[in-house]
Amino acid sequence: MIHPLLPNQLQKTQETMRMAAEFILRPISRKYDKAEHEPPVEMEQLNQAAAAQKESTVGDDSVKSMDLKGRNLWAVISLEQMCWGDVGLFLARPGTGLGNAAIMAVGNPDQKSQWGKRWASMAITEPAAGSDSKNISTTAVLDGDEWVINGEKIYVTDGDRCDCVVVWATLNKALGKTAIRSFIVEKGTPGFSVARLEKKLGIRASDTATLIFDNCRIPRENLLGGKEEVETDIDAAKKSFGGAMQTFDNTRPMVAGMAIGLGQAALDMTKALLAEEGYEDSYGTSMGQQTAIQYELEMLEAELEAARLLVYKSAWMMDNKMPNSKEASMGKAKAGRIGNKISLKCVEICSMQGFSEDHLLEKFSRDSKILDIFEGTQQIQQLIVARQVLGKSSAELK
Ligand SMILES: Cc1cc2nc3c(=O)[nH]c(=O)nc-3n(C[C@H](O)[C@H](O)[C@H](O)COP(=O)(O)OP(=O)(O)OC[C@H]3O[C@@H](n4cnc5c(N)ncnc54)[C@H](O)[C@@H]3O)c2cc1C
Repeated sequence: MIHPLLPNQLQKTQETMRMAAEFILRPISRKYDKAEHEPPVEMEQLNQAAAAQKESTVGDDSVKSMDLKGRNLWAVISLEQMCWGDVGLFLARPGTGLGNAAIMAVGNPDQKSQWGKRWASMAITEPAAGSDSKNISTTAVLDGDEWVINGEKIYVTDGDRCDCVVVWATLNKALGKTAIRSFIVEKGTPGFSVARLEKKLGIRASDTATLIFDNCRIPRENLLGGKEEVETDIDAAKKSFGGAMQTFDNTRPMVAGMAIGLGQAALDMTKALLAEEGYEDSYGTSMGQQTAIQYELEMLEAELEAARLLVYKSAWMMDNKMPNSKEASMGKAKAGRIGNKISLKCVEICSMQGFSEDHLLEKFSRDSKILDIFEGTQQIQQLIVARQVLGKSSAELK
């Protein structure tokens, strides 16, 4: 459905991306769910459609007239539509990854121009540091004009197929989060290897990799944002970690948009299957005349729309340079949760057809779970919102 609150150009984005999702992604959804780890070669077409859309939308007059710069809202809307098609395939799309968001958010102008258009994944998680990302152990030591990186990163989305990785590492673990920096490491750098690929519950079209850095030497200028100070300038160091964390304000609305697209896909497919047995929406009729299924589906729809508006707002705030941490986490929590709830409910409502591989509902329910885990779990989003609402620091509310 075209969203009435969006300016014309973004409505066009919705339409184009929905068509790409329907005619490029959906037909190959099951193929790459089965063929885990095979690169989806058909995706190049989608890349071209997305690039053309972006050119014509960002900076368009109707977008500017709403005082939007457009990039983040455009991205959320595009992702929502593509993930209506298939979340795993969208993540496997050659081009931009979560590392690109980090480069665009905190990279210096040289880094943006050198790396902005390469496919960059994001490597934060380690065997002993997931939600608690400030506890990472991967190290970066300056040696002459090079950084030497050592450590292991796990569950890196697109870690195998990307061109480069944004790696979080510590300059000195004893100094805690203020010593954490991110570094751009190019594929093929000696000492950098892909150790294994995960077999997963969902999003099987996208690769998820363990990466090893063994005395991996990278140029000094690959320090993202370019701030090395730590013992000498603690304030600058704090800002640097804050900058790395702020990437999440940018990426959480994107992941939330993905969950909304998937939730919409499950609702649409459920209604289409029920329509074959005579189901009709009951908008406008009184509650007493609704069937239990009509009531259930319309409640889910209402919750999905609430999540959608919250997520659009969080992206719009980012576009307009307004602090959006609270809204980004609220939107991610709400959208992740409702995406899970809708996709499982739809399996339940369609029962045999919901559970069967003849349709995609069972796949949607598997793909949906990760959207409530990566870029910060449901519990972590709620913790961030609670801190913001109560005015507590991360040390005060853990
Ligand atoms: C398919 C997939 C792709 C991924 N892609 C990436 C990627 O590209 N890059 C990357 O860096 N990471 C990636 N991850 C890792 C992901 O970000 C982590 O799984 C996530 O942050 C949670 O960390 P954890 O698994 O170690 O769980 P833990 O942090 O150990 O948490 C376990 C449980 O405890 C809860 N919990 C933890 N702390 C608290 C707390 N303080 N209060 C309340 N509850 C809490 C969590 O919500 C969770 O339910 C990916 C993971 C998966 C499964």
